[in-house]
Amino acid sequence: MPVDPEVRVGHLDNGLTYYIRHNNNPEGVANFYIAQKVGSINEDDDQRGLAHFLEHMAFNGSEHFPGNGIIDYTRSLGVEFGRDLNAYTSIDRTVYNINNVPTARQTAVDSCLLILKDWSNGLTLDAGEIDKERGVVHGEWRLGSGAMQRIRDAAWPQMLKDSKYGNRLPIGLMEIIDNFTPQTLRAYYEKWYRPDNQGLIIVGDVDVDKVEAKIKELWSGVTVPADAVKIPHEAIPDNDDAIYVIGQDKEMQQNMYMIMMKHDGLPDEMKPTMMSLIFNFGGEMTGMMLNNRLQEAAQSEGSAFLVAQGSDGKFLSTKAKDAFTTIVIPKPGQDIEAIKQVTQELNRVNQYGFTATEYERAKDDYLSQLKKLYDNRAKIKNDQYANDYIENFLENEPMPSIEDQYNLTNQVVKMLPVEVVNELSKEMITANDTNLVVAGFLREAEGIKVTTVDELKGAITGARAEKLEAYVDNVITEPLMTALPKKGAIKKETENKQLGYKQLTLSNGVKVILKKTDFKDNEILMRAYADGGLALYGPKDDDNLKILAMGFAEAGLGNFSQRDLTKALAGKQAGVDFDIDVTDQTVTGHSTPDDLETLMQLIYLQFTAIKSDKAAYDQTTGYMAEQFKNASLNPQLVFTDSLQSTLTNHYKLSSLPKAETFENADYERILQIQRERLANAADYTFVFVGNFDEAIMRQYLEQYIASLPANKKLTKKQSVKHVWNGHVENRFKAKMQDGQSIVVEAWRSNGVPYTVEGRTLLKMAADVLEAVYLKSIREEHSASYTVSAQADVDTDADEFYYTLLGYCPCDPDKAQLAESLLKQGIEDAAKAIDPEVLAKVKEAMLNHFDEDSKSNNHWLNYIFRNEKYGTDFYNGYKERVSAVTPEQVSAFIRDVIMKPGHHAEIVMMPE
Ligand SMILES: [Zn+2]
Repeated sequence: MPVDPEVRVGHLDNGLTYYIRHNNNPEGVANFYIAQKVGSINEDDDQRGLAHFLEHMAFNGSEHFPGNGIIDYTRSLGVEFGRDLNAYTSIDRTVYNINNVPTARQTAVDSCLLILKDWSNGLTLDAGEIDKERGVVHGEWRLGSGAMQRIRDAAWPQMLKDSKYGNRLPIGLMEIIDNFTPQTLRAYYEKWYRPDNQGLIIVGDVDVDKVEAKIKELWSGVTVPADAVKIPHEAIPDNDDAIYVIGQDKEMQQNMYMIMMKHDGLPDEMKPTMMSLIFNFGGEMTGMMLNNRLQEAAQSEGSAFLVAQGSDGKFLSTKAKDAFTTIVIPKPGQDIEAIKQVTQELNRVNQYGFTATEYERAKDDYLSQLKKLYDNRAKIKNDQYANDYIENFLENEPMPSIEDQYNLTNQVVKMLPVEVVNELSKEMITANDTNLVVAGFLREAEGIKVTTVDELKGAITGARAEKLEAYVDNVITEPLMTALPKKGAIKKETENKQLGYKQLTLSNGVKVILKKTDFKDNEILMRAYADGGLALYGPKDDDNLKILAMGFAEAGLGNFSQRDLTKALAGKQAGVDFDIDVTDQTVTGHSTPDDLETLMQLIYLQFTAIKSDKAAYDQTTGYMAEQFKNASLNPQLVFTDSLQSTLTNHYKLSSLPKAETFENADYERILQIQRERLANAADYTFVFVGNFDEAIMRQYLEQYIASLPANKKLTKKQSVKHVWNGHVENRFKAKMQDGQSIVVEAWRSNGVPYTVEGRTLLKMAADVLEAVYLKSIREEHSASYTVSAQADVDTDADEFYYTLLGYCPCDPDKAQLAESLLKQGIEDAAKAIDPEVLAKVKEAMLNHFDEDSKSNNHWLNYIFRNEKYGTDFYNGYKERVSAVTPEQVSAFIRDVIMKPGHHAEIVMMPE
């Protein structure tokens, strides 16, 4: 495969590899990465968890950036810790990144290279800092420990039998995290973090020559010790007999199975060849075609499973082996039958392969997605390039230019008939015990029968023995719309000069806004919004409304069920969605310029021809009913429910659905409500943003939007007040396996008008508070792994409520401390704010604005807010943000947020 000629790849004598690429989209910023070819697999037995611990220490002091210097310095560039400055550790790799760095000043570029250099071999690993971080990592472990993780942790050594991988999950062992000596961590760092295991990736608006020169200057003095150990290849052996593993947990809400068929991946030396293109294509095709069948089977009568899905990829995220993995969620009590049915579908593929028509559709989808990427080739973002280079460095994956990838794929795919793909599928989807690994993640509760290994084995061997018939592909061949509606016209036209868009009024009264942009060459977005919503309906519809509010009201369009629609839209990049809230509803849509007419037809059908699709509805609600029926087992859901309930003053539509909700809901009535809410198109304002041809757009508007049924009687705006008042406390205990507390402190304004200034101050207040909390709660007191501050806006018909909220999951022993620090933080901020903290928050907001103002999705928001509330968040926004003083933010927190005295405390403790 040809290598992208635009990237400069180089190697220093000490083995360091670098990739540098100039990219102007967006202008003035760059991303910096360092990738290490090592991860938790390279730990010794006394180091389990230290690859990840080391990653944390990368932000706690280095040669040129003592203490929190890296976080502080990058924040001064507007780079946010967490969002733009981050890292991850997995089994086989560790990758660090600094994204969206402004590059106008060469010093900023040089400093970020110096940070990469410090990460590569200049970490301080101070004993005191290590001790402080133990609690943070412990908190991260607690946060990541749910039912699935507990079962996974126990099952891991069995699923990866006879391999070092079986004992190397990145989070490691807590007794090691709590007790290791600094020397043990240093030993890992010095052994593995060496230039010959490291790759630098710099992509963005930089001078490639200058960056290369600086890399040479910084790294050429670094040497690799003569006795340096090569990274050993850790294998995952084949298994002749199937491996079955079953785990149980009291917090599981639903049973789940994984059927894994291991196989070797393409060897590293083959990856840069055309073989990788063919293999990846074969894997993608197999997954897509199988999933279409499984989805169809799940919705057919007698199906014993709610959901089943397969894909080819890394076996349990390891580099050593690939696997075709199928996940199965059975209907309650039908586990064995579900495993049997899914195994049959897998076997059907193994025996008969896929049909030519299935392949045709899957191929069309694949190629149209690729074309979408290709069409946007002039606007590829830094992280997309960087990901290709990171994969090239770590896994030897090919990195062709998008032009080459597009042309080669089109040529190769044309030469691959379905028979070839079926041969590849057979290699992945096998029909015997060799390399088969099956894992069950099961509920543990009184009165529930647990599947045994023998039963699982029996189901799989039984299904294999059955005689199968070949799959028959039923397709509706008619077009989306068989007849076109009578055309309307564009009646009136005005221009909004301020935000550069056109406002059209159509002959049926519908308002349309057009904003043509060139941010992306392959994207058109649509949002149609209207007042109304669930508030129009009375209490007897409560269960139906909840189903609608949760987005479970599945339906088809025109003559097509959801399944048929998926088939009919093969090769098209277009879709629509309906979403309903308490006082409004929205239809959203998206397409490429090529598929704009398809989008228009889908919109037309959404408004005029919602089709009952009970099978799709039953599948979604069947799955969700199980989830919510057992929600009380999941402490995270219990907390979310309590939080929502407190903050909305127990508003009925905000609580989670219960089992009865699903039993009582009436599908036909749900459809009727949807149809009613869409019956009058004149209620709606349609906004189109993106790369469309205006002349064509106008024709389509007349054909498909001006023809929508509408009348003059518009739906009235609804007024619903659901906010809490005064001081509210909700302290409760929940049953859980691992002790975890969550503390929320929230403050709410009185009803205020919606203004750009108020919204901006609220956002700043939240960002400032989050910085304060991270410093006090995470860094100084190690009381939590993560803590956040959030800004929310609620509304009724004419007033707005600002909520400022601190959220902290923590160790139960630290809950009281966290609570007092959350309060302390806001009380201090109400008096005074550190100007330096605010300056960094402002810098980040300005950077985000530069990014957002080139995004179609954000333009939908700018236009929506301007039309609905008369607030312009675009013009003068930067000046406004720049002008805000620390005193203004303090005064806002004090006078608008805290003074009214609406304060809620929600605390969950383990029972
Ligand atoms: Zn971490």
